[in-house]
Amino acid sequence: MLIKAAPHCRRPAVRRPEGQSRRRRRYNRDVNDVALPVGAAPVGVGVFDLTPDALKEVLSGWNEPAYRADQILAWVYRRDADDYDAMSNLPGPLRAKLGASLPIYRSQVLARRVAADGTTKLLLGWPDGATSECVCIPDSDRRTACVSTQVGCPVGCLFCASGLDGLQRQLSCGEIVEQAMRVRQVCGDARLSNVVFMGLGEPLHNYHATVAAVRTLNAAWGVGIGARKITVSTVGLPKAIRQLAEEGLQIKLAVSLHAPNDELRRQIIPWAEAIDIASLVEAARVYFEKTTREVTLEYVLLGGLNDAPQHARELAQVAKGMRSNVNLIRYNPVESLPFQRPDAAAAERFMAILRAEGVNTHLRRSRGIDVDAACGQLRRRSATMGAVVSRRSG
Ligand code: SAH
Ligand code: SF4
Repeated sequence: MLIKAAPHCRRPAVRRPEGQSRRRRRYNRDVNDVALPVGAAPVGVGVFDLTPDALKEVLSGWNEPAYRADQILAWVYRRDADDYDAMSNLPGPLRAKLGASLPIYRSQVLARRVAADGTTKLLLGWPDGATSECVCIPDSDRRTACVSTQVGCPVGCLFCASGLDGLQRQLSCGEIVEQAMRVRQVCGDARLSNVVFMGLGEPLHNYHATVAAVRTLNAAWGVGIGARKITVSTVGLPKAIRQLAEEGLQIKLAVSLHAPNDELRRQIIPWAEAIDIASLVEAARVYFEKTTREVTLEYVLLGGLNDAPQHARELAQVAKGMRSNVNLIRYNPVESLPFQRPDAAAAERFMAILRAEGVNTHLRRSRGIDVDAACGQLRRRSATMGAVVSRRSG
């Protein structure tokens, strides 16, 4: 039997506005502000793609009672089962049928690197040869999974390794959830407490899979992470941010700003040509109004480019235009890119200006810098070493 992606993972049909050509429609998406290439869809479905209702539908097609779905999901999410054979309360023939048609884990761990600070980075290989990265970041008793939402990234921010080869394909809801589960496996006895969507890719350019994955990560029947412990980071698509505000989720939103004015932002982020800071501020305001969650502005400090005192003062004005706090990140060097990592004292001075302006600001520690923790770097490095079979970068 062919198991299709659950309805919540599928994109709703987009109606073509009058007068719009067929070719143009292919590039438009219901949640995008500008015409953006959609990207290839993932192939194949596993347990992590399915809600309890979707799994019940599959089972009812096999004349199995609905309660089997709850049993299966409890094994997978509560008891970490990675094989149907372990599910001792399921009849043997059902276990065999599930094993043949609905995989649990679909990825292989191609590489695992542990940094001196305990940060562990996994490179996962998918059945079609695509690869993605996820990271386990330990911090006292907190364990954070950083997950990717796309293979590559279509945005191409100039300082980021993820976008250097463009977008290879979208990740499915199941592939995003599976990364968090793989990270949970490396947490050992500690509980996975947080998930951040800060790996490869632009989550809001893969909107429906991202939202479906958030729901599964948050659900009591799923991974069970509190919504307030889940952060979606976006380069900033105002229409998608407004839609996210309507989803009834209490997740944190981080907007990657990286420049306090449009002129500079356009030099760093190609998509900023079509999206100005004023429209991002407006969307972030709506997000706060609907969710009461303060938005975090992320700002990568690039030495000599966006880290002057004048930039800090301008950034303070933007931040004060909405309910927001600022997260400063010193650029993590990427091989072959020309940017400079400012020293800690320069970053502290930048932060002091923001704080003096009354903006709640933090300087994020760079974690696992020795395992290529900046997104996209392990994947690229492994690909160039020939360790990974990857369609585009292998
Ligand atoms: N596409 C989304 C989420 C993934 S990137 C976004 O851009 O928000 C997650 C964060 O990592 C972003 O704030 C991004 O700017 C930052 N980042 C990417 N490359 C980096 C690098 N080399 N050094 C420091 N931060 C980096
Ligand atoms: Fe894509 Fe985010 Fe990297 Fe920009 S920073 S290229 S949006 S992953």
